[in-house]
Amino acid sequence: MSKIAFIGLGIMGGPMAGHLVKAGHEVTGYDVVQAGVDRLVAAGGAGASSVAEAVAEAEIVITMLPQDEHVETVVFGDGEGGEDGGILRNAKPGVLLIDFSTIKPETSIKVAAAGRELGLRVLDAPVSGGEKGAVDAVLSIMAGGSAEDFEAAKPIFEVVGRTFERVGDSGAGQYVKAANQLIVGGTYALVAEAIVLMEAAGVDAKAGLDVIAGGLAASRILDLKRDTMLARQFEPGFRIDLHHKDMGIASAAARSAEVSLPMTALVAQLIAAARAKGYGSLDHSALLKVVEDLSGR
Ligand code: NAD
Repeated sequence: MSKIAFIGLGIMGGPMAGHLVKAGHEVTGYDVVQAGVDRLVAAGGAGASSVAEAVAEAEIVITMLPQDEHVETVVFGDGEGGEDGGILRNAKPGVLLIDFSTIKPETSIKVAAAGRELGLRVLDAPVSGGEKGAVDAVLSIMAGGSAEDFEAAKPIFEVVGRTFERVGDSGAGQYVKAANQLIVGGTYALVAEAIVLMEAAGVDAKAGLDVIAGGLAASRILDLKRDTMLARQFEPGFRIDLHHKDMGIASAAARSAEVSLPMTALVAQLIAAARAKGYGSLDHSALLKVVEDLSGR
């Protein structure tokens, strides 16, 4: 069993940290929002009041933060260093840093290079499976880093995930996650269009989606979200704001790989519209509201 520091105890990090406690690890958590820390303490973990305090004794440091800037602040510190500094200044050499956040590949590469210079082992390990995947500990984990560090992280991945693969060196996990997010965004957009079409035509959309889910168009999104979409329940889940960030990562990755991804561009624009309409903190299934607006429904 390991001493683990867990930074970022939100929708995903909260349940993931809880599973690690249940598996017998000594987990010390930190989040800028105290409620996340309180939830971990109630689950049997320990709370810290800073990144420095959380990582001081850790053998494994885990981050699950919203965006690039949060990862950079937590890893590199706020520039003042010392006690208030980030993971790099406060973790012991040899520590394994697993970043589960979805961020730009370049940021992951930068974090890994800086960490290795100080003797840390670093993996980018973004996840897929949504809040339910985190709660049920069945996440898919796409890891970038050395084969040796991937082996070292397996006992953690086995607790929070079900499918995990090393997909290449540092940053590779983020490219695979970008690919994942364009499939997820595209699927939501088309499920939304299917609902709008069926409802406008006056057919039974619930029965329609039930039968569709048994055919070739079956998907996990249909299985998990069709009822809440039909009921227009858009509590996150996964916020539109975060999917907007992910489509930006996918678009930039496409540009640097010099490939043309027209569907990705279209879905990115629909998600941008959702955000512009003020739906940023709703679940990404709220793309349905944008598709409805386009048809005046
Ligand atoms: P969230 O906003 O619920 O959780 C992030 C947590 O990080 C928050 O509790 C926030 O207070 C904390 N935080 C921010 N800055 C911090 C700092 N400087 N120090 C300590 N804590 C800080 O977001 P989430 O939905 O859990 O997503 C986390 C990451 O996982 C994102 O990169 C997201 O894209 C990715 N992701 C989310 C889902 C999902 O369904 N929600 C699924 C797969 C991947």
